[in-house]
Amino acid sequence: MSVRSVLGLCLLVAACGGDDGGTPDAPVAIQPTANPTRELLDTQLAYDVTALTATATITFAASTEPGATLEVGDLTIDRVTLDGADLAFTAVTAPGAAHANDHTIDLALPASDGPLAVTIAFHYKHHASFEGAAVAGYTLVWPYHCGNLFPCHSQPDDGLTISLAITGVPAGKTAVFPPMLTEAPAYQIAWSIDAYTELPLGTTTAGTAVSMWYRPTELTAAQAGGANLVAVFDWLEETIGPYRFGSKVGTVSVKWGPGALGGMEHHPMWHISSGALADEETNAHEAVHGWYGDGIRIACWEDFVLSEGTTTYLAGRALDVVAPTVGATVWAGYATELNGISAMAKVWPQSCNAIDIIDDDLFTNAPYIRGAFFYRGVALKVGAALLDQALAAFYAAHAGKAARMSDMLTTIKDVTGYDPTACADMWLKSTTKPAANTACP
Ligand SMILES: [Zn+2]
Repeated sequence: MSVRSVLGLCLLVAACGGDDGGTPDAPVAIQPTANPTRELLDTQLAYDVTALTATATITFAASTEPGATLEVGDLTIDRVTLDGADLAFTAVTAPGAAHANDHTIDLALPASDGPLAVTIAFHYKHHASFEGAAVAGYTLVWPYHCGNLFPCHSQPDDGLTISLAITGVPAGKTAVFPPMLTEAPAYQIAWSIDAYTELPLGTTTAGTAVSMWYRPTELTAAQAGGANLVAVFDWLEETIGPYRFGSKVGTVSVKWGPGALGGMEHHPMWHISSGALADEETNAHEAVHGWYGDGIRIACWEDFVLSEGTTTYLAGRALDVVAPTVGATVWAGYATELNGISAMAKVWPQSCNAIDIIDDDLFTNAPYIRGAFFYRGVALKVGAALLDQALAAFYAAHAGKAARMSDMLTTIKDVTGYDPTACADMWLKSTTKPAANTACP
């Protein structure tokens, strides 16, 4: 455990260390104060990836209570300023802290009627194990490691406007990242730096340009993985609703290393492990997260199935529509994966942020696959097209906001007329595992 106790300069210099606060005209020193509910409105990040230094300009919401709290992981905080003047802060390590999000700083930010922007200069470290910026060039902070990359709030319901600028990129390499996101979860922002070539795949009806960014020797894999990606993205835009994260999107191949497959929903340039680059389902899956998981945030970690179950279903559904042979193979693969899931594995715990998604074993295949077959069961009951309408209505109601899986059950009932409660009990709560493609009762 590393304990840092950093005391910055006093906000109101005239009152620093003074005990003369009784004088009416004397400014009162504001001490660093915990205020973890003070909302972040905007975060502007600028990194030098060679020097491993950065600045974060963070705009806090108005607050009747003073103070502010940020997760800072293992960052070294060099300086915090407000309007160019030093702002006092403390660094705190929670006793027995196991995770980056337990490491926080409190700021001496005054209460305010309007937003206040502070600038934080810091150093960051490279991380292995997908907990920050990797030496291999990519970043990954899901689920709650954003503090190792920038001062943040890691709760998934916290929607962030975030911009990113990068300097110090080595010669011959390209940094692929979005310049700006709005109302995104903190884990959504990422970059990857490698010797990339962009393969433009095409443009959707709505005008979204879809590309693959591949590394040397990966052109064939990129072409295979992206074979139906424009059609999938077009189907999502036309069926579920307008995409929220810009007009240029695509898959970025990342060097996660041997044995690390899958991808991460870093929209609009989502990451896919180089070993999975050729896999159409993985490409479709990460694309779908632009609507579910990113476009709509989960309100609690326990709502993980709203992100991953919905996304797994919609990847299979979209491929079913645009490339039926591929879709059939994907659903056969899901059925095989269902066989490998423990019936006891958690899918949809009925609490809110009472569990640790990693330590309490919610991050398994169960929410993905049982979640997908829940929706499949609804589709078999009411028709896939009507379920599409429910998923579109849910997106229209919750895009840019956080939502719960229970909200989804309500929407399905409202739109389709079918109450999926018993089906959700069967697929998402029961410790008896139904057979693949079991329709809702
Ligand atoms: Zn996913």
